[in-house]
Amino acid sequence: MSAIAFPQPDPGILARREEIIAGLTAILPADCLVTSEDERRAFETDALTAYRRIPLAVALPRTTAETAAVLRFCREAGVNVVPRGAGTSLSGGAIPQEDAIVIGMSKMNRILDVNYANRTVRVQAGVTNLSISDAVSPDGFFYAPDPSSQLACTIGGNIGMNSGGAHCLKYGVTTNNVLGVTLVTIDGEIIEIGGEAMDAAGLDLLGLIVGSEGQLGIVTEAVVRILRAAEGARPVLFGFDSSEEAGACVAAIIGAGVVPVAMEFMDKPAIHICEAFAKAGYPLDVEAMLIIEVEGSAMEMEAELQRIVEIAQQHGVRVVKESRSALETALIWKGRKSAFGATGRVADYICMDGTVPTSQLSYVLKRTGEIVASYGLRVANVFHAGDGNMHPLILYNVNDPAEQEKAEAAGMDILRLCVEAGGCLTGEHGVGIEKRDLMREQFTQADLEQQMRVRATFDPQWLLNPAKVFPLDGRVTA
Ligand SMILES: Cc1cc2nc3c(=O)[nH]c(=O)nc-3n(C[C@H](O)[C@H](O)[C@H](O)COP(=O)(O)OP(=O)(O)OC[C@H]3O[C@@H](n4cnc5c(N)ncnc54)[C@H](O)[C@@H]3O)c2cc1C
Repeated sequence: MSAIAFPQPDPGILARREEIIAGLTAILPADCLVTSEDERRAFETDALTAYRRIPLAVALPRTTAETAAVLRFCREAGVNVVPRGAGTSLSGGAIPQEDAIVIGMSKMNRILDVNYANRTVRVQAGVTNLSISDAVSPDGFFYAPDPSSQLACTIGGNIGMNSGGAHCLKYGVTTNNVLGVTLVTIDGEIIEIGGEAMDAAGLDLLGLIVGSEGQLGIVTEAVVRILRAAEGARPVLFGFDSSEEAGACVAAIIGAGVVPVAMEFMDKPAIHICEAFAKAGYPLDVEAMLIIEVEGSAMEMEAELQRIVEIAQQHGVRVVKESRSALETALIWKGRKSAFGATGRVADYICMDGTVPTSQLSYVLKRTGEIVASYGLRVANVFHAGDGNMHPLILYNVNDPAEQEKAEAAGMDILRLCVEAGGCLTGEHGVGIEKRDLMREQFTQADLEQQMRVRATFDPQWLLNPAKVFPLDGRVTA
């Protein structure tokens, strides 16, 4: 049984399917349209695989102008639109409805310009996250936000969800690293927001677009900031006898004003799952582990590490293990970045994504364990500790509807806990359909109405990704 409701498809739109496809055929060549049921199935879900709906059709525009023409057509025909990058959203952000056209960015996957003088790269929205760093790394540069899905996920999707990653503690998440976008509105208008300069005049519209989950328009191009790679970087493993000690250590490091480039947490189940996959040399006899990466010159790394070790010793650290080679470093990060995939080898899971103040990590970790146990389920925790961005992976059997319901209920309780602890419902995976109905836990009705008014300014008919982010009832249209 599904706990998350989808709106009933509009029978009027379903009845006009042939006419709508004929309209799209007049805009796009045949190889840019997906209409057969078999091929549409490839777009029925994203990484929230428990939910799926086959879209009316899929449009794959090659240019900003084609995207604009498709959007203009959809607005005039009153058809819902679901923007899609690589479909790796964990909150169901890219799952379509039966009466929606999916607009996929997979054909817009070119790096358009690298400008070292400005330290920027202009890309099409369907470019994968990793390919930006790959393009500039021979010259000693990189693009900082590094979601674990970076091999597949697109810059458009990263902008949609304001994605983060292990190395965002020091360099910020997507919103801190995007300088401009080309946005196509539902009217088919093409707008340039921001650009190559470090700041833009007027209201911070770019801040509004980043994290808007495909509800304000479709991003077709982006200008991102690239950074010079540090002289060196070294991850160090810190093992603790309890998750609470590890959580308190994170808070103490941040409290001391030390900002390593990454500070990632794994509890015992996650350590064992990832070690079995990556053979990274993680300590197996501890209850929790932090991967802390320092970077800079040899002297800078030594000084920062010394301070971190002192703090960890005050918090009961039992194992300190430094990477001694490039291979060890690669394996340590392989284990962490493959954590979700590795977990999928041993169980079905749902990945929650709440953020708490780092001072609350110990308490929230303890309560998370208690909550999941109270549903008779197991949990593995692996997350961006320095940002307080928690990812409990709740393990369950997807073929057992009762277990799925329990897993979802436990996840919702954990997110409520994050809000109560002074945090929020999402750190980086977005609200999507998954947390849409929890928005009332975080915001008052007045807050929600205000946000919906902003949304409706861009899309008065609520055609853009309409089943996401806001509770389905009580919509504000102007
Ligand atoms: C194994 C795994 C690991 C992950 N690790 C991380 C992680 O470390 N950090 C993290 O932040 N996330 C992570 N994610 C979640 C996911 O990869 C990110 O949310 C990612 O940014 C989604 O990108 P995408 O291209 O797949 O977008 P999609 O899933 O296709 O879409 C995501 C959202 O953006 C909207 N959208 C997509 N393209 C556009 C566009 N061009 N214009 C406007 N809106 C658009 C969609 O409508 C949807 O709401 C992980 C997912 C998986 C499966």
